Amino acid sequence: MTLLLGCIADDFTGATDLANTLVKAGMRTVQLLGVPRAGLTIPDADAIVVALKSRSNPAPEAVSMSLAALTWLRAAGARQYYFKYCSTFDSTDRGNIGPVADALCDALGTPFTVFNPAFPTNKRTVYQGYLFVGDMLLSESGMRHHPLTPMTDPSLPRVLARQTSRKVGLVPYGTVVRGVAAIRESFDSLQREGVRHAVLDAITDEHLLTLGEACADLALITGGSGMAMGLPANFVRRGLLEPGRVSALPAIDGPAAVLSGSCSTATQQQVSDMRRTHDAFEIDALAVADGRDVAREALEWASTRLSERPVLIYSTADPKTVESVQVRLGRDHAGALVEATLSQIAKGLVARGVRRLVVAGGETSGAVVSALGVQGLQIGAEIDPGVPWTASLGEQRLALALKSGNFGTPDFFTKSFAKYG
Ligand code: ADP
Repeated sequence: MTLLLGCIADDFTGATDLANTLVKAGMRTVQLLGVPRAGLTIPDADAIVVALKSRSNPAPEAVSMSLAALTWLRAAGARQYYFKYCSTFDSTDRGNIGPVADALCDALGTPFTVFNPAFPTNKRTVYQGYLFVGDMLLSESGMRHHPLTPMTDPSLPRVLARQTSRKVGLVPYGTVVRGVAAIRESFDSLQREGVRHAVLDAITDEHLLTLGEACADLALITGGSGMAMGLPANFVRRGLLEPGRVSALPAIDGPAAVLSGSCSTATQQQVSDMRRTHDAFEIDALAVADGRDVAREALEWASTRLSERPVLIYSTADPKTVESVQVRLGRDHAGALVEATLSQIAKGLVARGVRRLVVAGGETSGAVVSALGVQGLQIGAEIDPGVPWTASLGEQRLALALKSGNFGTPDFFTKSFAKYG
């Protein structure tokens, strides 16, 4: 296997977003859940994304996790490296974007890297180093109230300068629109001025593609998922990657189920749509809190119904119901109870032969995947924007679609199974 791009992502859903972007641009991509244990068989891949949970850890911890991922990716022979963070540059003055980038540069022996969280499709753009969310500066958006990483300064060069002792610079819009050669010249002149970290402006996908091409020779690139869009074409230009490569997943047959722990508006619609035509079991969070073995009840209910036709098991509820549960149990406790119940059900379903599973909810997906002991995912075709089918690695291969919150059309649950591949 020739591994072209080795990626380190600071959270799980961000890693999936990046993997999905790379697959769409023609790279066969595997997402690993942390640095894998020895012995895991990894299918041929052009890109590997190691998903960490390092965004909100103390900086020294995030650095050592990222370096461990880098060591593994280097041993796998990657030719270029990518550090993925959120499109809203989620971080604090202590890190972790600056310290992790510094450590990765040092380990790779590279003097220069770039930073670009822009994601125009989701209305994240960078102009003169200022990050916009829609028509607002980052610091005026909801991100200013984020519980862990409140973003109160919209200037990325300023934010980054507080996280690193290295000199920070900017490749402004005026240079980006002049194209690849101008951008590369600007990389050179910034380096002559002693700049080690360059923030890049980008407002459209076209800018991201141009920037991607300009970064072909950098050892390390850092950014959101958008910045990775232009990288696969570099490998095609060099004859290292066949153009238009399609990522086919292995055939996985067997009983199917949908597990939904998301209470987002789109998921509520998807649950009521599927309930009209399929067998469904509702999890009552208060019954779980009262000590009833709801997981066992759900599994007994499911055991006579499992087939190619998916069953639905859900805790999805409307905001009023969720609020009343949270008032009684506390938000975190309620969430943890429901996640634990759905995870137990997922394990029970797989033990009863289920091989194809759609899971709704970001946190819920994380809990289910870790309960199932999944170490990695091969990424396949998109079902709806941002939600690909995946196949778990390891001996027991499962078809998994992990859908967070507001993704997917109302018929997502029922249409998804036909799109596996
Ligand atoms: P989303 O991606 O839509 O945000 P998540 O799975 O990330 O979904 O978050 C939903 C949270 O709500 C989870 O912690 C889940 O356990 C919790 N939850 C699910 N159903 C209920 C319910 N009926 N009452 C209270 N909390 C619930």
